Amino acid sequence: MGVPEDQSKIKRVVVLGGGTAGVSVAQALHGNKDIIVTLVDRKSYHEIPWANVRAYTVDYTITAKSAIPFKDIPKLGEVITGEVVSISEGSIKLKSGVEVPYDYLVFAMGSHFHEPLCKGVEGTASDRSSEMQAANEKLTAAKSVLIVGGGAVGVEVAGEIASVMPDKQVTLVHSKPGLLVDDRPRMSYNAKHWLESKKVKVILNDKVDGKQKGPIYQTQNGVQITADVVYQCVGLIPSTGFLSSTGILDAKGFIKVDMHFRVEGHPTWFAVGDCNNIPEIKLGYLAQAQGKQLAEELKQMAVSGEIFQKTKPWKLQGGFPAMIVSLGKKNGVGHIGPIPIWGFVPAKIKSGDLFIGKTRKDIGLPA
Ligand SMILES: Cc1cc2nc3c(=O)[nH]c(=O)nc-3n(C[C@H](O)[C@H](O)[C@H](O)COP(=O)(O)OP(=O)(O)OC[C@H]3O[C@@H](n4cnc5c(N)ncnc54)[C@H](O)[C@@H]3O)c2cc1C
Repeated sequence: MGVPEDQSKIKRVVVLGGGTAGVSVAQALHGNKDIIVTLVDRKSYHEIPWANVRAYTVDYTITAKSAIPFKDIPKLGEVITGEVVSISEGSIKLKSGVEVPYDYLVFAMGSHFHEPLCKGVEGTASDRSSEMQAANEKLTAAKSVLIVGGGAVGVEVAGEIASVMPDKQVTLVHSKPGLLVDDRPRMSYNAKHWLESKKVKVILNDKVDGKQKGPIYQTQNGVQITADVVYQCVGLIPSTGFLSSTGILDAKGFIKVDMHFRVEGHPTWFAVGDCNNIPEIKLGYLAQAQGKQLAEELKQMAVSGEIFQKTKPWKLQGGFPAMIVSLGKKNGVGHIGPIPIWGFVPAKIKSGDLFIGKTRKDIGLPA
C-alpha cells in the first residue's frame, strides 16, 4: 500500500456492515494511500443472501461457499466484529463499549426479515451452517409447510421445496392479487402456474399470521391450513433501529440520503444498499454498484480534504431492473428489462448455482 507523505492527512473511513454494499465500499477503498478503511460487522462472516433460501431449506452444504469468514476475503482492510449500538460525530460505539473513530462514516447495515432464513445475525460461518443444517432437518421431518408471503423469497422457498421434496404439502399465502412484483403480470402468472403444477397450493388476496400457535393456521378469509413448518417471508426491515433518535430515518426506518448517498444534515455520513431510502427495488447488484460509486466519491474527498461531489449522482433504476427468481435448480422466472423470461433461460442464468460462483469471484475468491 502507498503511504502519503503527511500521515496526519490520512482519512479514516469506517464502514458499518459487511454485506454486499459494505464489502464493495471497503474493497474499492483498500490500498488507497489517502485512506484507512475499517469494516465493522456484528458477525464474523460475509453472507451471500441469494444462496440462503436453498441453504436453509434443502441443502445447507452450500453454506461452505456462501457464508465466508471475513478473514478469507482479500483486500478488505481491518475488520472488527461487534454490533454497533450508537454513533456520534467522530466515533461509533460497539455493544462491547469499544469506540472506533472516523473521518467518514458509511452506513451499510442492510436489512432483515422476521424469517431467520434471510440473513444471519451474529456468530461465525460455522454457526450459520449449523443453523441451516438444523432447519433442513426440521423441514425433512415435516409433512406440511406454510409459506407466508409470495414475494421473491416466499416463491423461491416454495420452488426449492416443491422441486426437492415433492411429497410435502406446501401452501403459500399472499396478500396481493398476484405473486412477486405488482407491475410484472407475466412473471407473476408464470410463477403461480409452475408452483401449482408442482401441487403447491397458492392462496392470493388473503393473509395469515404465521405466529399463530400451530399446527392449524387460519387465514383472514377463514381458510384453515395445517403446517408443521412455517416460513415468514414478509416485510423487509432496514437494520437501523439504533439510529431511531438521530432524525436521519424516514417513516419506514430507511436512512434519508441524497443521490450522492450523503445523509441529510451530516456531510461526513453516507448510506448505501438496503438501508438507504433511494426509491428503487432493494437488490444486491444495486447495493454493490452503490458501494463502488460511493468509494469513488470518498477517494476524491480524502484528497481534497473537502466535502464535495465530483462524481455523477446515482442513476435511479426505474422501469424494470433485471430480476430472476429461482424455482428449484432447473426452473425460474424473471425479467431482463421489459422482457419476461421463464423456464430454462432464467435457470441457466441463476438457478443452478444461485450466482454463488460469480459473487465469490466478484470479491476476489475462487468460484
Ligand atoms: C433470500 C434473499 C434472496 C435475494 N436474492 C437476490 C438476488 O437474486 N439478486 C439480488 O440482486 N438481490 C437479492 N436479494 C437482495 C440482496 O440480498 C440485498 O439487496 C443485499 O443483501 C443488500 O446488501 P446490503 O449490504 O445493503 O445489506 P445486507 O446484505 O443486509 O448486509 C448488512 C450487513 O450489516 C451487518 N449489520 C447490520 N446491523 C449491524 C449493526 N448494528 N452492527 C454491526 N453490523 C450490522 C449485518 O450483519 C450484515 O452483514 C435477496 C435477498 C434475500 C434476503
